[in-house]
Amino acid sequence: MPGTLFIVTAPSGAGKTTLVRGLLERDPRVQLSISYTTRAPRPGEQDGREYHFVDSQTFRTLRDRGEFLEWAEVHGNYYATSKVWLKEQIAAGRDTLLEIDWQGAQQVRKSFPDAVGVFVLPPSLEELERRLRGRNTDSEDVIQRRVLGARGEMRHVGEFDYVIINNELQVAVDDLVAVVRAARLRYANQQLRQPHYFDFLEQD
Ligand code: 5GP
Repeated sequence: MPGTLFIVTAPSGAGKTTLVRGLLERDPRVQLSISYTTRAPRPGEQDGREYHFVDSQTFRTLRDRGEFLEWAEVHGNYYATSKVWLKEQIAAGRDTLLEIDWQGAQQVRKSFPDAVGVFVLPPSLEELERRLRGRNTDSEDVIQRRVLGARGEMRHVGEFDYVIINNELQVAVDDLVAVVRAARLRYANQQLRQPHYFDFLEQD
């Protein structure tokens, strides 16, 4: 009985990480996939918790060995999702969430066409910039690059099944919880997970 794969994408600063944390607290049946990155850890980030932090050489080696389901360059750093781990988790029936960019989402959809795509929009580009500054962990140069990139990323919103506007965090978390719940109610899911409710189909 396969699990459901969720892809959550947003320009950085849209509040995706906080939103996803809110979902995980409300729904412990969803687990997060830990990506590989060549980006340096931010203060408070731990190897193996937020990311597997690796150097460029290690990243290339893993990539060339075919360990990644998808990989992308985002804001000058490399990011990737582990292929074997994710396939195992989905096959074992665990609902798993990927926080990846739109390029990764496009690649993942090829291997997992039933994946549920969610795009998180900030209330406005001005608010996005304000949040990036408030984070106080990135240099001005990095912030400018991210603000510029955000508009381009947001153009891909139409490739996703659901759109969540992250204006008020609690409302946005409710929305994400609702998406996960709705996905579990899809016919194919229900039929696989609770087949006895469908016994009537066998009767005349
Ligand atoms: P950050 O450096 O702020 O944690 O993440 C920057 C961007 O990289 C975000 O848009 C995030 O979704 C994306 N990202 C994180 N992990 C992955 C991954 O495994 N694959 C891809 N394609 N993008 C990722």
